[in-house]
Amino acid sequence: MNDPLSHACALLHSVFGFNEFRPGQEEIVRAVLAGENVLAVMPTGSGKSLCYQLPAITRPGLTLVISPLIALMRDQVRALTAAGVAAGSLNSSNEPAENARVMGLLRRGELRLLYVAPERLARPDTVEMLAEAHVSMMAIDEAHCVSQWGHDFRPEYLSLGNLARQIGGRLQTLAFTATADAPTRGDIVEKLFATSPRIFVRSFDRPNLKLAFKPKERSTRQVLSFVQAHQGESGIIYCASRRKVEELAAALVAAGVRALPYHAGLDKAVRDANQDAFQQDDGVVMTATVAFGMGIDKPDVRFVCHADLPANVEAYYQEIGRAGRDGLPADTLTLYGLGDMQLRRLQIEQGESSDERKRIERQRLGALLSLAEAPRCRRQTLLAYFGEPSETCGNCDLCQEGVELFDGTIDAQKAMSAIVRTGERFGMEHLVAILIGDLTDNVQKFNHEKLPTFGVGKDRKAAEWRSIFRQLSAVGLIAQDLLEHGRWWVTDDGWRVLKGEQKIELRKDLTSGAAGKSSRRDRRAAAATIVGDGDTVLLDALKALRTKLARAQNVPAYVVFSDRTLAELATHRPASERAMREIHGVGDAKLERYGAAFLEVIQGAEA
Ligand code: ADP
Ligand code: ZN
Repeated sequence: MNDPLSHACALLHSVFGFNEFRPGQEEIVRAVLAGENVLAVMPTGSGKSLCYQLPAITRPGLTLVISPLIALMRDQVRALTAAGVAAGSLNSSNEPAENARVMGLLRRGELRLLYVAPERLARPDTVEMLAEAHVSMMAIDEAHCVSQWGHDFRPEYLSLGNLARQIGGRLQTLAFTATADAPTRGDIVEKLFATSPRIFVRSFDRPNLKLAFKPKERSTRQVLSFVQAHQGESGIIYCASRRKVEELAAALVAAGVRALPYHAGLDKAVRDANQDAFQQDDGVVMTATVAFGMGIDKPDVRFVCHADLPANVEAYYQEIGRAGRDGLPADTLTLYGLGDMQLRRLQIEQGESSDERKRIERQRLGALLSLAEAPRCRRQTLLAYFGEPSETCGNCDLCQEGVELFDGTIDAQKAMSAIVRTGERFGMEHLVAILIGDLTDNVQKFNHEKLPTFGVGKDRKAAEWRSIFRQLSAVGLIAQDLLEHGRWWVTDDGWRVLKGEQKIELRKDLTSGAAGKSSRRDRRAAAATIVGDGDTVLLDALKALRTKLARAQNVPAYVVFSDRTLAELATHRPASERAMREIHGVGDAKLERYGAAFLEVIQGAEA
């Protein structure tokens, strides 16, 4: 096969067991095979690793993969090895036997992928060794760690460009990240590449994630019923405090759920054991603070629940993004209450950040509240925040259940007229004070009690007006200037409403904490979205076999087969190795190792 892309496609099938590329992968693989330097910005779970793993095994030579996360390296090496690829890692936590295996492969020129932590790469002996090892490409994972803009900054990343030159002259360089904002991207290009790379940016939409928010009522009960609708599935519950983690984990255990706690206050040994159990077994529910996050590479997390409001939209998106990385349906639920909002505000005000930074944090929190109170499709609101226009999704609570709306045109006009009459120069608190007729110091200082708008919104509470501002912002009638004191201004759409050319509907439950409609999801309905009805018995049997095999080899369940593979096995019930080879995720190596055992279970179920 001369054409490298068709060779790559063949390996996609025979090594990874995938029938096709995920959106975005093919164009990147094509550019990499053509020898280009590439920066790819893709959301978590979109399949970044394949974009360097596949070229790495399609062409001769060794690919270096730089990753800051040792646990993630270990998982990838395990998964590649299970697929029959000669892969290894160099890091401080390797057993001597593992190091010997990797060095042996390296000496014999058989190693195809070598995962290295950046600090290890910086050691002169490592550079010297790699300079002789025919390295053909360097793939940098989590490339945003090179940027001082983000919170994941790793100083060692700054020297990667230099090290690449020492190892291989003009080494082909690939960088991958899920962080999309412009300053970070600029930093990556500047600091990791000698010349501008080809840049690929994938949509941030994750259509397989169901999005839902609910006001908190009795939050433990709400969490419990959400978890019970997902019996036997792996999931994560995020809480705002360690105490809440402990309490919720205990409540779930008392209800018969296999829940484990995870937070920074636990012994490292306990944390590691809990993380391993979550990673390896089916159906563990991790109850955690956000300390549990970076580096979770489990593809089959079926749900994420925020028992408390996340810190901001980016955090929310990162955290729910840990569900459904295999592309199968996954469920998310975020609970929010007035107390949460106050707590988050307090955290910002009492934090150590500069005033400028606090202002930005306040606005990012505001954007999350807009999302919580959005009057229409949540995904549309979320993607709009990331600058991506989209259609309504049909897979969020608002698309599916709707909310009670009322004609909010007059309220919207009042709020926007407060903005306009004060010259589009003020933030929300001042505008709300004007609307409710509150004679604050600032109102008097600017003589704003003289405005015709002063007090026109007396009939509503301040909290209701804040909600109206957030909703108007969620539908794009007003916008906030992030860099100029958070001042609000009226958009073109907003002017149409202000002039009475268009009406606007708002949510009836204006204050958060008001009761929302609760929806009940049937456990069977949830399972049936993954496999057809009637296959659940076979699916359970296949899962049991997977658990047994995974335990015997001490690897996570998904290293044996992914959820999608099991679901396809249960649906298509292949009767021969040849038929099984056509199933998603079944490559040559896995067919040889597991084929017979799984076929036996499938045949048993047929009888
Ligand atoms: P990311 O690094 O972008 O967060 P991963 O590379 O870990 O995502 O991939 C997420 C999941 O998608 C993995 O389980 C991987 O095996 C799977 N995957 C990747 N590419 C494909 C494909 N072409 N077809 C099916 N599954 C894929
Ligand atoms: Zn929707």
